[in-house]
Amino acid sequence: MKVLGAAAGGGFPQWNCACPNCHSVREGSDSHQPLLQSSLAVSANEKDWYLINAGPDVHRQIESFPALHPGPGIRETPLAGVILTDAEFDHTIGLLSLREGSCLTIYGTETVRKSLQSCFPVLPLLENYCSWEWQSLHPDHRKRIGPTGIGKEKTIVIETVPVSKKPPLYTRSNMEENDTGDCWEVGLVLHNESTGRSLAYFPTLERITPAIEACFQKADILMVDGTFWSETELVEMGATKRDARNMGHLPISGPSGIAEKLAKYSAKRKILIHINNSNPILNKDSMERRTLERLGFEIAYDGMGVEV
Ligand SMILES: [Zn+2]
Repeated sequence: MKVLGAAAGGGFPQWNCACPNCHSVREGSDSHQPLLQSSLAVSANEKDWYLINAGPDVHRQIESFPALHPGPGIRETPLAGVILTDAEFDHTIGLLSLREGSCLTIYGTETVRKSLQSCFPVLPLLENYCSWEWQSLHPDHRKRIGPTGIGKEKTIVIETVPVSKKPPLYTRSNMEENDTGDCWEVGLVLHNESTGRSLAYFPTLERITPAIEACFQKADILMVDGTFWSETELVEMGATKRDARNMGHLPISGPSGIAEKLAKYSAKRKILIHINNSNPILNKDSMERRTLERLGFEIAYDGMGVEV
């Protein structure tokens, strides 16, 4: 697995943000590294690659990782598909940028598919440019990703775990689709059947349900929501009136924050990802970053490779 973008939506720096972090990274400070927006590339055979979420930076991300470069055929690409954890713009807008492909295989839940058919009609729009095939992910079920009829070691088994019923903001104008009973966001557990190991990828965590808890207990690597350090960091900066929980994220710090909650799991690696540009852990010299590193956490960065 390769981290193609470790930042939350907006990236780091964010185009309209003048927070201390964004300022420092624009100045070229040694303690801050720019980050593209949330996306991973995964492969079981290092030939066929899948993006987990496709955001606004998808072209740069493909160029940044040689394994995703096309060839040898003029339109041959190792990109075998895109796996979606939700229907947010930050995770789906890149599908439109992939329209030059001949056939796009997209994996996601039925809720996400419906949203991309109507409120944010990426799928009908794409039909005019390329063909696409939808592969449904069902919460609480496992799905083998990849061409059928080949050996186990060549595929990835994905377990889909419900995370949140919070729909994207853009669905608000279409109340029919805004069915609050639906599961809008999922986490993924990626199983490598040849090693027997697994990685739990949960870029959004608003609470740890019993199902998520069960995944975290078993997973060898946890890669989870590191969006905000504190509940109110954006409010304190005067950037918004919405706090972390209102945006569907548990903060890292504080009582029942992510750092405290993750302490009890015995996973070999605990990696924080999907980091908002306001988060002090983006400063390598910060007290917050050092505290996390002392507790055994890793902070994801663009280009980080993870072997499962
Ligand atoms: Zn900022």
